[in-house]
Amino acid sequence: MRSLIRLLGVARELWPYYVGIAAASVATAALALLTPFIIKGATDEVVAQTQGNGGGVPALIWLAVALLVVELLGTVVSNIGGYLGDVMTTRLKAILSSRYYAKMLSLPQRYFDSNLTGTIINRLTRSITETTQFLQMFSNSFFPMLLTVIAVLVITALYSPWLALLLVIIYPVFMWLTALTSKRWQPIEQQKNTEFDIAGGRFAEAIGQIRVVKSFTSELRELALFDRHYGRTIGLTQQQSRFWHLMDVARRGALNLIFFGVYAIIFTSTASGAFTLGAMVLLIQLVAMAKQPVTMMSFLVDASQRAIAGSKSFFEAMDEAPEPLAAIGAGTPRDTAPWPARDDGPMISFDHVSFGYDSDTEVLHDITFDVAPGERVAFVGESGGGKTTLVNLLLGLYRPDSGVIRLRGVDVSTVPVEQLRAEIGVVFQEAALFSGTIRENVAYGRPGASASEIESAATKANAHEFVAKLANGYAAEIGERGIKLSGGQKQRIAVARAMLKNAPVLVLDEATSALDSKSERLVQAGLEELMADRTTLIIAHRLSTISSVDRIVTLKNGRVDEIGSPAELATSGGIYAELLALQASASKADRKRL
Ligand code: ADP
Ligand code: MG
Repeated sequence: MRSLIRLLGVARELWPYYVGIAAASVATAALALLTPFIIKGATDEVVAQTQGNGGGVPALIWLAVALLVVELLGTVVSNIGGYLGDVMTTRLKAILSSRYYAKMLSLPQRYFDSNLTGTIINRLTRSITETTQFLQMFSNSFFPMLLTVIAVLVITALYSPWLALLLVIIYPVFMWLTALTSKRWQPIEQQKNTEFDIAGGRFAEAIGQIRVVKSFTSELRELALFDRHYGRTIGLTQQQSRFWHLMDVARRGALNLIFFGVYAIIFTSTASGAFTLGAMVLLIQLVAMAKQPVTMMSFLVDASQRAIAGSKSFFEAMDEAPEPLAAIGAGTPRDTAPWPARDDGPMISFDHVSFGYDSDTEVLHDITFDVAPGERVAFVGESGGGKTTLVNLLLGLYRPDSGVIRLRGVDVSTVPVEQLRAEIGVVFQEAALFSGTIRENVAYGRPGASASEIESAATKANAHEFVAKLANGYAAEIGERGIKLSGGQKQRIAVARAMLKNAPVLVLDEATSALDSKSERLVQAGLEELMADRTTLIIAHRLSTISSVDRIVTLKNGRVDEIGSPAELATSGGIYAELLALQASASKADRKRL
């Protein structure tokens, strides 16, 4: 419940809507209360006329006209309230969704290591839909009704305090029975949501990698997994529903007992002359009005339970700690200030850095090396040896457990992450592109880039030629993650993208290792352009890529093994020498085969 109220607080700017809805509700309630009084007046008039006095037919017609006017006004006012409610909830939905997305974007990489994309989306949709649906229901019908009930109770008390007291009992009894229901209901709802999240997470993962699913013909297995988790929610819902309806019988049973007492008092008091016939008619209508929200409440209980669960999971996500020093986490995008300039000393330095993704396995141990401005340094080591982890640390995606990483002499953990990442261009092994046009993808790191800047970046990246051949050129849509392009084409777009970002530090993490040798040559030519005048870290295992660097750092068991120029390491008997020997024997074998 507290989280629901907190939800309204999230969108404080909607206060005019809250006020408007409250005003419309008050007006609706007031108008609704006039009807029983007019009918009371009509009853009294009819009784008077049967006794030979009263205003005759015209008086009754005027009363009917009054009814018509009140009803029409009531309809108009409640519809204005309903309209405001619709707009308010739509706006609230937009605000909450945006806050949620902003929060997700601000979370540290670690969060995404252990939460599935589909689950994150699922949770967003569910929590926001269910809470706003409830609020809509509440503001459009329940709130006006609640106000009516309060007025009804006050008026009834004027006629008969006992009657009012009896009516008042309904609500605590109902609340108590509701609370009982909710205790059982809530945990099952959470179990259901877990199942939905697993199913939804897998759904998004399978669709996102549909090629793999198809090539392994695992469609039925994927479907079975989905059905299994979704299927479990059926049993859980049955359990919920059974209990809910059982409690509803109890709730309504209790209500009917109370109403039995209420009607008994009204009838007998009228017969004994305590109430006039008109008063009896009035009270019967008021009681019916008091009953309305209770019936409505039964539906509302269900919706409110969902809304409470939904708003809880919304705030669970919202309360996740954002990446430290991320501007979006602070809620205020800020301009990226230039890097605090210090042009003496090394460009990058790792100073006794140790790191593990979890506390019990350390991936990098006591890593120390420097990279001078403009230098090209290659990192060589076995797969899984921690090379990408080095890049992750440099980008500030994770923080070292101990030691310091410096960029131009400044500890990277003390600088806003946007500022740090503005300094570093990265080309990954998998060119992760976005759906949209080639132009948009090249300009991803610099959205304002002009057409000629984009074209020149693409030309340097060796991409212009193939782009020019596409039917739509730079306006060609490349599909989700760039699925309509070949690996080498995607990689050249990624190089152009890094080119346009124009960061002083460049990281190539196996940028060509997924490519065939012809594509590799094309991409490599683009990379040479990109590396010019930049400090570059190259992770690669192809000799063709690393033999031209200034220095090589070899990693072994998560430690730095050797550091030296290619010539020095060629004779040292280390990993690089092994690599050279391997390559020599492979090419000899190739020659033999030829
Ligand atoms: P590589 O040298 O091949 O780039 P990585 O740096 O990717 O190696 O991985 C180093 C080690 O860290 C591997 O043992 C890998 O299993 C582990 N690892 C990589 N990423 C994560 C992650 N996000 N969470 C947990 N462990 C990870
Ligand atoms: Mg790697």
